[in-house]
Amino acid sequence: MEKKRIAVLGSTGSIGTQTLEVISRHADLFAVEVLTAHNQHNLLIEQSLKFKPNAVVISREEHYEIVNDALFPHGIKVFAGPDALDQVVQMDSIDMVLAAMVGFAGLSSVIKSIEAGKPVALANKETLVVAGQLVTSLALEKRTPIIPVDSEHSAIFQCLIGEHNNPIEKIYLTASGGPFRKFSEKEIGKVSPEQALKHPNWDMGAKITIDSASMMNKGLEAIEAKWLFDLKPQQIDVIVHPQSIVHSIVQFQDGSMKAQMGLPDMRLPIQYALGYPKRLQSPEKRFNFTDYPELSFEKPDMGKFPNLRIAYEAMEKGGNMPCIMNAANEIAVDAFLQGEIQFPEMTKVIEKTLEKATFLPKAGYDEYVKSDRESREIARMFI
Ligand code: MG
Repeated sequence: MEKKRIAVLGSTGSIGTQTLEVISRHADLFAVEVLTAHNQHNLLIEQSLKFKPNAVVISREEHYEIVNDALFPHGIKVFAGPDALDQVVQMDSIDMVLAAMVGFAGLSSVIKSIEAGKPVALANKETLVVAGQLVTSLALEKRTPIIPVDSEHSAIFQCLIGEHNNPIEKIYLTASGGPFRKFSEKEIGKVSPEQALKHPNWDMGAKITIDSASMMNKGLEAIEAKWLFDLKPQQIDVIVHPQSIVHSIVQFQDGSMKAQMGLPDMRLPIQYALGYPKRLQSPEKRFNFTDYPELSFEKPDMGKFPNLRIAYEAMEKGGNMPCIMNAANEIAVDAFLQGEIQFPEMTKVIEKTLEKATFLPKAGYDEYVKSDRESREIARMFI
């Protein structure tokens, strides 16, 4: 059997490295065709020497020489710069693109992958948050599948298998509640980046871990779900489930609910997306009921975590509102990580940016790029 040749975009991040783990575990099924990284050139070189891709891209051009010097003798083509990323995803030899870059930066290459008809395993949720309409209609037009890697969306995707055209009544996205679920508002006001970076259940990158602590992640995921599964905002509910065992739930018209469960481990949804529709072996620990005598569920506290409310409002309003929100959030998270603002001030930056940025009820790719840039500038002004 021919191996499926994968392009891993964002290979040095948390999802990227876990994807390479899955690929090496199933080296009989998958081969690495392309690796791309933004900045971490040393890890990119190390990964390339191990997985022998056909081509690699390092986004930051100042790292080109060092990467090329290391990989050229091994016959690996090296490219640099953001345009290179858009071009490389169109290579004939790629069978699937796993998109795991962080933030708005992922949008362009996901669009180019879909245009080239490459199935996309999508871990970059910001792509759908910013330009869900554009990306999903393009995928439909090109008949290119988008398979979710985000654990909640993978859960819903798995619950829908075999349901054909049975309509969804609603979905429940589960949320761990993050490390500050039990903190008072006052305590949340004083948390440090180090505290926010300690997620109770999931092993993830910095941006998404901060988003989880502020509940913005669940807001982004609600918008992501809207586009992936063609839902109205009222059909999407968030329920806090601190054990992160139930990964999400679909409720059908007859009131029946299907949930997908398992231990929290990102390698599972990654592997499912790569192997779809096949389920592949995994040696990881299995869920044990007696380790979890209780699975609990509670309503999210919108007072303590206003980002969730803001995301729903942006989703309702539509147009470029989610794009503005996403840009402001990326800037705010960065500023919090740099110690420039306090945790609750991230919300203030987002709210003020949403008020000030230009609203467009309809937008195309160029408008999104413009809106993203404008929103970042505005957000930075407030910091
Ligand atoms: Mg998730």
